[in-house]
Amino acid sequence: MTQILSAAPIKKKITKELKSDCKFLKENGIHPYLKVILVGNNPASLVYTASKKKYCERIGAKCDIIALDEQIELIKFLTIIDEINHDNDVHGCIIQLPLPKHLLHLDVGKLVIQEKDVDGFHPENLYSVLSNQNIETHFVSCTPKGIITLLRESQIEIANKRVAIIGRSMIVGKPLACLFTNHNATVTLCHSKTQNIREITKECDIIVSAVGIAHLVDETFISNKKNQVVVDVGMNTNANGELCGDVNFEKIKDLVSAITPVPGGVGPMTIISLAQNLLQASKNRLSL
Ligand code: NAP
Repeated sequence: MTQILSAAPIKKKITKELKSDCKFLKENGIHPYLKVILVGNNPASLVYTASKKKYCERIGAKCDIIALDEQIELIKFLTIIDEINHDNDVHGCIIQLPLPKHLLHLDVGKLVIQEKDVDGFHPENLYSVLSNQNIETHFVSCTPKGIITLLRESQIEIANKRVAIIGRSMIVGKPLACLFTNHNATVTLCHSKTQNIREITKECDIIVSAVGIAHLVDETFISNKKNQVVVDVGMNTNANGELCGDVNFEKIKDLVSAITPVPGGVGPMTIISLAQNLLQASKNRLSL
């Protein structure tokens, strides 16, 4: 029987912990506060930022979405971030991607200071993942962190496993490869130039797809041993305009031992990780 790696029971458990942590922080004079910078009206970004705000408020944290005009001048945009960086009441700040074309040249990972970079994009936070040091006080990128939490909470072994990750982006594939390595897995990081991906994925115990192509991963990527774990990061839309992953769930669900659904798998775990990072950023203030 295939294990469906649903985020729901994990979310229930972690939400309880986060609510209690948030209460503790408030009793100690710190009200965790996230600012989300949203530029323009990208429909997916509107949905994602609203979900992040809703979840932060659910655990008792404050969250404001700073909605900025698509055409905002560069200097105005940078001034707003600078003000947030210097605002002692704010513990975390994220810049919702994608940004409009005229801001694409910016090195987004360096705009929010390390202490408030709850997205985990700042070079210092990335170095913490790379070196596997000070992970507790730094911030791990939310989607990779959520994937590891999902697997561990679902009792999926990571150590000594062979992992294939398809997709080498800075926000998913690369940090995830480091995290798996830190957990003693052996990783092959695949991308659009990788030859014979199917031969690689068939050899692996865990397959993660973070590409952005609907139903790319089908039965041709899977071994016939029925013992692989498949994690679908993709958030795509199908021909009917519905949300779907990179994985053809229906085609492979009976050929693997465990699989994440879309929706209801990696997506909610990403938001949980963001809230965990926000509370960590707030706790870090206690020790200052
Ligand atoms: P991205 O920056 O566009 O990167 C896509 C990666 O896929 C690149 O490394 C690219 O290779 C690789 N790729 C493209 N076509 C390929 C192919 N045919 N075979 C193998 N590799 C291929 O994407 P991203 O930001 O990481 O996001 C990936 C997907 O995850 C998207 O659907 C996104 O919406 C979703 N996502 C979901 C969450 C969540 O919370 N669930 C969070 C973040 C992203 P090259 O490097 O060679 O171009």
